[in-house]
Amino acid sequence: MKNVANKVVLITGASSGIGEATARLLAQQGAIVVLGARRTERLESIVHDIQQAGGRAAYREVDVADAEQVKAFVSFAKDTFGHVDVIFNNAGIMPLSPMNALKTDEWNNIIDINIKGVLHGIAAVLPVMEQQGHGQIINTASTGAHAVGSSCAVYCASKYAVWAISEGLRQECNNIRVTVLSPGVTTTELGHDITDEAAAGLVQQLRTMSLEAESVANAVLYAISQPNDVEASEIVIRSASSFGHAF
Ligand code: NDP
Repeated sequence: MKNVANKVVLITGASSGIGEATARLLAQQGAIVVLGARRTERLESIVHDIQQAGGRAAYREVDVADAEQVKAFVSFAKDTFGHVDVIFNNAGIMPLSPMNALKTDEWNNIIDINIKGVLHGIAAVLPVMEQQGHGQIINTASTGAHAVGSSCAVYCASKYAVWAISEGLRQECNNIRVTVLSPGVTTTELGHDITDEAAAGLVQQLRTMSLEAESVANAVLYAISQPNDVEASEIVIRSASSFGHAF
């Protein structure tokens, strides 16, 4: 695929779902993928698969809520492969609940991972990309960055924030392409951490109109493979069966 081969692409949240599917797809297309997440046994196994298939990949444990760990993740990629062409800030969680359940620890985790995690990724790569004179930052928002639903207030707020941060960054960046990716409901492990029963039921319902993670990975591939003078600044992708629904 044009403009993908030999690029060093860092992916957070690469141990399952959209991040894993993207790592596998980009490696097939000749990119060098650097996978990050907390579950290293998963990362090790995905990297093993990619290498067995002739692809190039490495992994490093990273908790995106910790700015120093994200910095170390980016330094690891740069020291190992010499440069950083793309970061896909994709790690996220979705412990949905109604506001009056007062799950304040979960609210804080959403803020720390979904918002600060993306900021930490941006902070770690910007100096590197500015020095290189090129780069691409792709942030995973959601259709929940465009609409709010009951039990989704804090999660959607985090994704509205990712959208706003991405758009502001895009306006400030000259030689660095910025893409905000908003997938609709996708079949992954997202929501496994929901502790509110009603919210868990809602997610089960939404899953009946779900995209496959591979389809979202294709959208990432599209954004990276555009010519250098083309910025796919925003991509919204939904299941065709989501008619009548916001997500
Ligand atoms: P998964 O739960 O399958 O993947 C989430 C990934 O994020 C995992 O690899 C997980 O790895 C990682 N992650 C979570 N917390 C952290 C952390 N603190 N540090 C590092 N990595 C972390 O779900 P998806 O693939 O669906 O989610 C990927 C992104 O897509 C998220 O941002 C999500 O909000 C977004 N999204 C998903 C949609 C869906 O319907 N599935 C729709 C719209 C957007 P580990 O636990 O090993 O750290």
